[in-house]
Amino acid sequence: MALTCRLSALPVLASLALLAGLPATAGASREVPAEGGEPTRRILRLATGKVETVPLEAYVSAVLPAEIGASAPAAALEAQAVAARSYAVARKGRHEDRGADLCDGVHCQVYAGLSRATAATRRAAEASRGIVLVQGGRVIAAPFHAVCGGRTARPSAVWDDEETPDLVPVEDDACLSASGARWTFFLPRAQVPALTARLGFPEGRFLEVWGHSDDGRVAALRLAAPGGKSLVVKGFDLRARASEIWGWAAVRSTDFEVTERPQGYLFSGRGTGHGAGLCQAGAIARAARGESRGAILAHYYRGASTASLDALETSR
Ligand SMILES: [Zn+2]
Ligand SMILES: [Zn+2]
Repeated sequence: MALTCRLSALPVLASLALLAGLPATAGASREVPAEGGEPTRRILRLATGKVETVPLEAYVSAVLPAEIGASAPAAALEAQAVAARSYAVARKGRHEDRGADLCDGVHCQVYAGLSRATAATRRAAEASRGIVLVQGGRVIAAPFHAVCGGRTARPSAVWDDEETPDLVPVEDDACLSASGARWTFFLPRAQVPALTARLGFPEGRFLEVWGHSDDGRVAALRLAAPGGKSLVVKGFDLRARASEIWGWAAVRSTDFEVTERPQGYLFSGRGTGHGAGLCQAGAIARAARGESRGAILAHYYRGASTASLDALETSR
């Protein structure tokens, strides 16, 4: 989910099915008339440019299959429904320049039409109807990702816009056996310039981790040239540029170590995606071992609480 409104920007994906994530920006807010009192959202269909107006709850049930998979256990589907609904409420008007609230791609949330909803995803939306995540009285654009790999990220270490919620990073033992919880990527020395060039430092030939954020992820790396010149870049930017060149499965997260080898650099990492908020693999495992929707949300959204949209009249 979510990059600075440049729709073409990155092949980085947002869900367990689609993986990873990007920074978000605020969208202007505008009230959309609700039919029969139920909130609606205007969805920009990127392939056609048309805008489809759909009831909020139907929209939520339709995005679940792409975002977490329709076969996830009920409590995980419901937790994801609360996250997706919160995101849709908080990012209302994000595509106002196109007369829409949200687009149908990974930039916002993946929506392929109301027909994609299944009986299970409709049940999950219905069981959590109107429930959203709030902080300081405002609905948050609840982040979620595929696999955290053992600990979640602090959202402000991923995105720097003022709409980003303040969530406390948490340990997570539930996703450790999931695919993508551990990964390696080898960057051959000959391909280092391809990466450094994209980071604005084409003469760069060496790299090292230069700093961590308080959630333990790589905040900065230092690129160096043979003559001694160097440039410090953000960990998030390195991951994004590497994804542009080699795909999302190269540098899967910013939770990694880098080891220099004679032939290049070995990245050894944990988790897939930006790591903030709900860990989808962990939510599925927790639901499978009997945890409730509320317990799952409380674990991954520490610092936020749940509320009913009906009680938050300004947020619809
Ligand atoms: Zn969008
Ligand atoms: Zn996790």
